[in-house]
Amino acid sequence: MRYAETGFNLEIDLTRGNIERVETDPRDTELYLGGLGTNAKILWDRVPPEVEPFSPENLLIFSAGLLCGTPATGCNRTIVSTISPQTELMAFSMMGGFWAPELKYAGYDKVILRGKSPDLVYLWINNDKVEIRDASHLHGKGATETAKLIRQELKEPKAQVAAIGLAGENRVYFASIEQGRSSASRQGIGAVMGDKGVKAVVVRGTRDINIARPAEFLGLCNEVLEYIKVRNQNPIPGVMTILQGLGSPQEMATHDEKWHTENFMWGNSRVRRRDFWTDEVKRAWTQAMESMRTRLISCYNCPMKCAATISPPGQPTYMMKCFSKLTYTMAAMSDLEFGLKIAQHATEYGVDGFSTPQVMAFALELYENGILTDKDFPEMPSDSEGRFYWLLDRIVRREGIGDVLANGTYWAAKEIGNGAEAYAHNNIKKHEQLPLKLSMLNPVYFLMYATGEKINITQIEGQFPQAPYPKREDREAFVKDWFQVPDEKFKQYFLDWEPRGENSNPYYPTVQMSCDIVDWQEKMHYIDDALGMCAGLSSFPLKPPYHIHNYPQFISSGAGIDMDEDKLSQAAKRYRTLVRAINIRRGMRRKDDKPPENHWKKRFPELEEALLDTYYKFKGWNSEGIPTKASLHDLDLDYVSEDFIQRGILTDGDDAPSQEISAEKVQK
Ligand code: SF4
Repeated sequence: MRYAETGFNLEIDLTRGNIERVETDPRDTELYLGGLGTNAKILWDRVPPEVEPFSPENLLIFSAGLLCGTPATGCNRTIVSTISPQTELMAFSMMGGFWAPELKYAGYDKVILRGKSPDLVYLWINNDKVEIRDASHLHGKGATETAKLIRQELKEPKAQVAAIGLAGENRVYFASIEQGRSSASRQGIGAVMGDKGVKAVVVRGTRDINIARPAEFLGLCNEVLEYIKVRNQNPIPGVMTILQGLGSPQEMATHDEKWHTENFMWGNSRVRRRDFWTDEVKRAWTQAMESMRTRLISCYNCPMKCAATISPPGQPTYMMKCFSKLTYTMAAMSDLEFGLKIAQHATEYGVDGFSTPQVMAFALELYENGILTDKDFPEMPSDSEGRFYWLLDRIVRREGIGDVLANGTYWAAKEIGNGAEAYAHNNIKKHEQLPLKLSMLNPVYFLMYATGEKINITQIEGQFPQAPYPKREDREAFVKDWFQVPDEKFKQYFLDWEPRGENSNPYYPTVQMSCDIVDWQEKMHYIDDALGMCAGLSSFPLKPPYHIHNYPQFISSGAGIDMDEDKLSQAAKRYRTLVRAINIRRGMRRKDDKPPENHWKKRFPELEEALLDTYYKFKGWNSEGIPTKASLHDLDLDYVSEDFIQRGILTDGDDAPSQEISAEKVQK
């Protein structure tokens, strides 16, 4: 018997219209867990690096995490993986909501799409009944509207619908897949869905999931729920409001936006407005939020209520969570009311709320600087808000300059030329980032930004605080109940971290400490993404309910896999390395491991090199960031090194680990 997982994937060949229910190998679950882990294995095996993002041979995989559908609180993530048109690397974007548990209840762990449908279709998965249905009547419909129409058509109000809008149909590189109260937005996975001719994947399931040791598993779930209550009653002092609690940053509940508006950049990540947050602004923004926010809402089986329904006057209601509340507002130099209104259009069109405003601000910056001219913007309104609406419409329709911008700032700048590349300055691995700019380099975040392959703000945040506490007694209070640490040394790292002086950024945490911290933070993200756990209850906030000490018990009692901390860490390292291997095989190298160009005002090239060298060595990668033959062998990934050697990516000469550059070499 299979536990936690169903043991079956749905394989759908869109070119031929063929549907198969395929039993999976339980040994793969032991080695790669599920979700992101097994997605990576499938992409490695079946999508060679020659395959382009918009090739029929590219796969689009919708996966429920290993523990989705079990009673584990907050375990509801769908992990969507493919080759990204934006980065040309492996994309793995997550969505919360309700879709993944529903897929499990229908009897499947993954839906794997290959080929291309000649006509627009949607997939209807209802337990054993799986159909490819005509979607020609849904051409051009909004993502939320599509979900509503499909539910009516199927007479299934409880069906969960993952749909694309016009942006996905038109293969906009930052198109999202929207799903009720969540979305998988990063890396253009909606464009791949549109390219495959799939408007929506619709699921309804009514089956049960087996749990290996139900009483033990439920006991663990109750402990988590109890802990969430305690944490909610005890916000962490000394950090900004949205970091005090659990969940996805509580942007929908919070009105105080002083920190974001004064520390994040406005426009195309250029302008800092230090005194922006006045009483008047606070009143107006509170009023805008309270008049349009109709309800706080949660994902499946979670008490946290991170999202909200937003009803702008005269516009349909939509769902919003997290930081998209401010991205349009700040890119357009406008107010919150504008941000909440344009986000409704953007959600229906199905675009990434982080990239899209940056792309539009980039276009206007090129215009202001004469690189683009009036000819490129025929009949564009003169006010900033009107321009944003105008640009959004053209981008999702790929009309005129919108066709160029629809490929994101990196590719658009290349096509526009004439110096435009200098304005695409806020990318990691060709993908737009949130416009955060800081003064002093933080070595932990340097490594997380530079080497991360998730291309998401969450990849830089984790369970270690983002900044030191000024007073030692506050640090001592913080570490007292910090039982989530994988090792006691992390408490000392934090205790000795000072805002100023010898033990401050950029040389503290030291290079070695930074490697330890990044490895811990990254490991937790990768575990969440395999189990289907919301990062908001594990890898993202401080002192979360899920951590490296209780996860093995969840996996053992839930999935029936004998698990301990070492084995779990090894599994996470295995599929993390496999994600890197997929990207290395597609050409990624050390030159690509860098943060946005001017993310920090003060940079330290020698230290940054030392950080990369030492981290690569720590991970078992050579000086180019390529996993070595020996480290691949330790992870049961010999098939990867064989492929690398065959392709000339690794040779005996290249396989040596990177030269050690010790921390001392860069000490002041
Ligand atoms: S913590 Fe928030 S984002 Fe995460 S599952 Fe719960 S409601 Fe959803």
